[in-house]
Amino acid sequence: MATATTGRTKGPTTTDLLKDRASLAIAQLSETGRTTFVTATTSLRRERWFAEALDSERYFLLPDPGICARYRGYTEYNPSPVPGATHAKNQVAIVHLCASTIEAGNAQDLEALMAHELSHGLEKEIAGEPTAKLVTQPILAEIAKQLAEAPEFKGQEDAIRQYLFEKRGGYPQAEMFAVLQSVPQNARLQKNDQLLVTLVCELRRMDASRLPEDVRARLIEDLKFRTTFFYDERIHESQGAPAKSLELARQLAMLTLEQALALREIERTENGSPYDIKCRM
Ligand SMILES: [Zn+2]
Repeated sequence: MATATTGRTKGPTTTDLLKDRASLAIAQLSETGRTTFVTATTSLRRERWFAEALDSERYFLLPDPGICARYRGYTEYNPSPVPGATHAKNQVAIVHLCASTIEAGNAQDLEALMAHELSHGLEKEIAGEPTAKLVTQPILAEIAKQLAEAPEFKGQEDAIRQYLFEKRGGYPQAEMFAVLQSVPQNARLQKNDQLLVTLVCELRRMDASRLPEDVRARLIEDLKFRTTFFYDERIHESQGAPAKSLELARQLAMLTLEQALALREIERTENGSPYDIKCRM
């Protein structure tokens, strides 16, 4: 039973199989876990943007005990659920959610995590890869390939590439995007300047890559554009009070991003670039 739910899906699979896999993983949660999962999903679905994403059957939420050591959430992209169609345009994303985070019983936190992870998938689907990833991907792939030729790293090319992506690649830009998108579902971000702290930290991580100034400026511009665009779409999907609160969330998101950029600018002129930064909420 356990092994059936922990393996990573590879290659063509069917929507039904994914649904079964998700139901099985949900069934394996404790009573508290299941209630928390259902409460969080129901609450998230109150925003039409996310309800439609879940109803599209292109996103599957999957409790997963296997990812907790490294991630609270992790999105795995699959090819089309149509058997044999490995290059179909519509892809399916499986959002793995750390099972112990679900079992912790905080539906609000879980809803925030779901909104964050789904935003990663929606960004990729609607806007394409984060620009930072497009910029750094070929270089990091080359480094990973060369390192994997050394005897001590043999066969670890994929792992090295993922590591470099998280440390030096598109990760900070994608993180800032998802954090900004999760503002309406994440009340905690608004307490104790949590959003500002997170953004400043991700900007430090971005600067640890020592990108050329014009590339950095372009990435920030792109992040702002994507953030505004996605909020516009979400507001467009909603009506009345929910639309108003989304508008307020967008203002908060954009204002805090400006504050973070201003703070980081002071740091940059005083300390230059940090070598390595680890941001975890
Ligand atoms: Zn993320």
